[in-house]
Amino acid sequence: MTDDAATRHEATTPEPATYEAVIGIETHVELATRSKMFCGCPVGFGAEPNTAVCPVCLGLPGALPVPNREAIEGIVRIGAALGCRLVEHSLFHRKNYFYPDLPKNYQISQYDVPLCVDGRLDIEVDGDTSTIGITRVHMEEDTGKSLHGSDGGRIHQADHSLLDFNRSGVPLVEIVSEPDIRSADQARAYAVELQRVVRTLGVTEAKLEAGSMRFDANVSVRAVGATTLGTRTEVKNMNSLRSLHRAVSYEIDRQTRVVSGGGIAVQETRHWNEEAGGTIPMRSKEESEDYRYFQEPDLVPIEIDTAWWERAVASIPELPAARRSRYLAAGVEPSSVAVLVDDPALGDLFEGAVAGGAEPRVVSNWLAGEVVAYLRQRGASAAETPLDASALVELGTMVGAGQVSASAAKEVLRGVLAGEGTPAHVADVRNLRQISDSSALQDAVDAVLADHPDELARLRAGDAKPLGFLVGRVMRATGGRADPRAVSQLLASRAGPPP
Ligand code: ADP
Ligand code: MG
Ligand code: ZN
Repeated sequence: MTDDAATRHEATTPEPATYEAVIGIETHVELATRSKMFCGCPVGFGAEPNTAVCPVCLGLPGALPVPNREAIEGIVRIGAALGCRLVEHSLFHRKNYFYPDLPKNYQISQYDVPLCVDGRLDIEVDGDTSTIGITRVHMEEDTGKSLHGSDGGRIHQADHSLLDFNRSGVPLVEIVSEPDIRSADQARAYAVELQRVVRTLGVTEAKLEAGSMRFDANVSVRAVGATTLGTRTEVKNMNSLRSLHRAVSYEIDRQTRVVSGGGIAVQETRHWNEEAGGTIPMRSKEESEDYRYFQEPDLVPIEIDTAWWERAVASIPELPAARRSRYLAAGVEPSSVAVLVDDPALGDLFEGAVAGGAEPRVVSNWLAGEVVAYLRQRGASAAETPLDASALVELGTMVGAGQVSASAAKEVLRGVLAGEGTPAHVADVRNLRQISDSSALQDAVDAVLADHPDELARLRAGDAKPLGFLVGRVMRATGGRADPRAVSQLLASRAGPPP
């Protein structure tokens, strides 16, 4: 390469700028209320199509909406749990658009005056905590469902579509984050933490696979250090954590390539294709003007009574973040903390056992270890087994008193889970009680030493290496029922200098 060419090359290569991703997530959760948002039709997943409908949720002329108090309570609890400020007089608007599963041709939603604003959610990725701002939490109603008739269920391959209006009018809460998320890992952590919070509140099942929780991810990239936001794309309606993570990663890579190649990102709505592993443009991004929002004339503003709001705040149960810190402080291992926080039944067993005096670290290890393994193998939940807090307390006491060894305790646990009875009973029946009789233990030690003269000689010569091996042999000979510490003491004394 001549000097000239090298210079030219440098001049045409853009500065190796580094880019950062900026992500904001819109989350929809269906509330598990008894009835729909504006009528008395039942809410439930899986009913015969078009059986939970009435003139209001079918949008028939002249039908009038009446707000659901239970749904408003639900959203207020979500807002409070996310540290939002309550807007005392909020409004319902009509968001106008045509779609076959929207029979009114508008969706009742909230627009410029939502119920809850300015909240936050702390998330953790690889030990780093970040606070993600919550812009708003507002109330709306769900649409019906379109089922596209074809094998893949995709619209472009379908020769017909079916409509099910059971979901039409189900209370829907939208939670909009600030663009504070910086990576696909953070996006997933945000979604998981939000799911934990709304589930803890008991206001929604938040089942991704059933569509009662779904995400839209807004993604843009910008040069590191830039203070303005880049142009975003929006990937709509993802209902798995895997899709969310993959779609966000894909968009970050795609946009970084566009922008670093000197191109300009286009604002658009994109569709995530899970099989193809990519996003494709769906439509140019609509602006809010396109929806011709206007205040819903059939509904008065929502006016929240302060005392009612304060009661809702006071009724918020302990949130996952607080629970996690409490467990960590009690000595539970970080890997077990997540298991206990994510499965309320296991969490309850843990709480009950600790309240009964059991050692938090020991119980949490059992629950996150043997118990979870047992349940996974059988596809069962903890509530379906006879294991209860008192059994955990009893087993903890037996271990503490040296009646069963730590390893035998795990087998006792499996017996209790299988319905064989109390820990004491299982330990007796399965012959798992630790050998406390020292003459029986001495016999076992002597028998092992007699079988391993070489190891004994090495021990006598001051080489401690065979000790572990010999302890293992004694443990095996006693079916795991010996106390390993006592065994190792006995071995050491036998290996002492010959008298
Ligand atoms: P819309 O319904 O038009 O998408 P919303 O205000 O409901 O508007 O939601 C916008 C979402 O996009 C928010 O989560 C916000 O944080 C996020 N967002 C806005 N601008 C950007 C941007 N430039 N890059 C990434 N995310 C953005
Ligand atoms: Mg959006
Ligand atoms: Zn109805």
